Amino acid sequence: MTRTLPARVDVAIVGSGPCGAAYARVLSEQCPDATIAVFEVGPLLADPPGTHVKNIVDPDERARAQRRSEGPAPLPAGTPTDTNEGYATEAPRLVRPGTFLLASGYRQPGQDGLPGAAMSSNVGGMGAHWTGACPRPGGRERIGFLPELDDLLAEGERLLSVDAHAFDDAPFAGEVRKRLSGALDDERAEDRRVAPMPLAVVRHDDGRVTWSGSDVVFGEPTRANPRFTLVPEALVTEVVVADGRARGVRVRDLQDGGEHVVAARFVVVAADALRTPQLLWASGVRPRALGRWLNDQPQTVYAVRLRDVDTGPEADVDPREQPRIVAQSGVSWVPYTDEDPFHGQVMQLDASPVPLADADEPEPGTIVGLGWFCAKDLQESDRVEFSDTETDPYGMPAMRIHYRLTEADSASIAAARDAVRRAAAALGEPLDDRDPLTFPPGASLHYQGTVRMGETDDGTSVCSPTSRVWDVAGLYVAGNGVIPTPIACNPTLTAVALAVGGARDIAAALTPEEN
Ligand code: FAD
Repeated sequence: MTRTLPARVDVAIVGSGPCGAAYARVLSEQCPDATIAVFEVGPLLADPPGTHVKNIVDPDERARAQRRSEGPAPLPAGTPTDTNEGYATEAPRLVRPGTFLLASGYRQPGQDGLPGAAMSSNVGGMGAHWTGACPRPGGRERIGFLPELDDLLAEGERLLSVDAHAFDDAPFAGEVRKRLSGALDDERAEDRRVAPMPLAVVRHDDGRVTWSGSDVVFGEPTRANPRFTLVPEALVTEVVVADGRARGVRVRDLQDGGEHVVAARFVVVAADALRTPQLLWASGVRPRALGRWLNDQPQTVYAVRLRDVDTGPEADVDPREQPRIVAQSGVSWVPYTDEDPFHGQVMQLDASPVPLADADEPEPGTIVGLGWFCAKDLQESDRVEFSDTETDPYGMPAMRIHYRLTEADSASIAAARDAVRRAAAALGEPLDDRDPLTFPPGASLHYQGTVRMGETDDGTSVCSPTSRVWDVAGLYVAGNGVIPTPIACNPTLTAVALAVGGARDIAAALTPEEN
């Protein structure tokens, strides 16, 4: 059956991850008369739209939802479609369930490249697969020219339902924090001390805790908004621009191949840090900074067995096979500071990618993984470039990544390896004699800078402090690509906060001034 797409809306949003959803939510709350449509290239996985796949309890259904998020390239013949088998887990190209790797162009000869560059295509985007860590940025991670940053972050926390105390009673979490704090907190400001990780989770009345996806960001105000439409399996191939103004979007309906132009007063491109600049490029919007200043957070992981802990009955649930969040899912946070410029997260092993030593039989909860993230030494030459002749499997301009780790990056990675060892030594003993493992670039899944925000239009940014693309009226960009600073912490909260600022800007333009 052919479906009908809206012919005209006030706001067209491209991409249904947490950032696109944040625009829909804020506009639904602030402009109830505005018509809003979200176009998403991937399929609808579950109800409500944008549900985190880990909230799907049935393992086969969950595996199917993950597979359906993995983009347009066909899976190799014989790959099982309803299990988690068949995923590559070995370096150098690590792929997580629910994501797919950039198939080609991820490394140029003689460069480091981004072999881990990955995306998700589904309603909810990567936000249907993420781990929900939502720390606030600190020190040089913060965007100095945004005086309202804390207000925006607080609103982002509301939309994502961030809770720093969901797992205060996790076994050993208090002990983990006490030991880390003893080793690391001496010189730190109060708000930068070891703490529980703020997590995007929802506590239900019956005591269950579930992961927040875009469903939570959309929330009831969006779902109940009769002027809101979500269109899955709809590829936006172009932002229509005329006379210096965004006029709408060109959409390919992947269900029937139909091509449509949807007129819009405002267009928001929230299509992840690689595909947002791709769509602008395809639309002829090519400011100098587009795709440049690309950065990813070099990530080093390690694992220890906690020293001297009493494994009583509180530890009797093994969290690793649990899709649901259980008490053992406690995560601790070692915040970034300019003096100790790493973002540290310490978690029970269910959430950690650290491989166990062979034949190690852990007591549930007693083995913790440590992940230390570095901030990249930003370079204009690190960039995603787009082809005018070649296309990707969606038919969009093919990407080519230019990416190098500088000497400063190598020094920072070496310092992170030392720092993670120090933190680990405070907790317990390494599982074996392996060194900390530094993942190849791209594995953090936190790509930033490609449509970066700037205070002025000086050629080093794509958009204004309210995410408006310089020189194209009515066009906004969203997602981690907007973040201009080299942040080491998980970026989604910051990106959602910046989306809130952009959505308020559109809301102000849509709201008639009262006399
Ligand atoms: P996305 O969620 O990537 O959504 C973009 C959407 O745009 C996609 O659905 C895509 O299909 C759609 N799209 C792209 N191009 C088009 C087009 N042309 N037309 C229509 N639609 C299009 N971040 C954290 O901060 N903390 C964490 O703990 C964390 N853990 C993670 C763990 C995993 C396993 C993964 C996969 C990610 C994790 N992340 C984490 C990253 C986090 O998920 C992303 O930062 C976040 O989802 C970005 O939101 P977004 O809305 O900008 O983009």
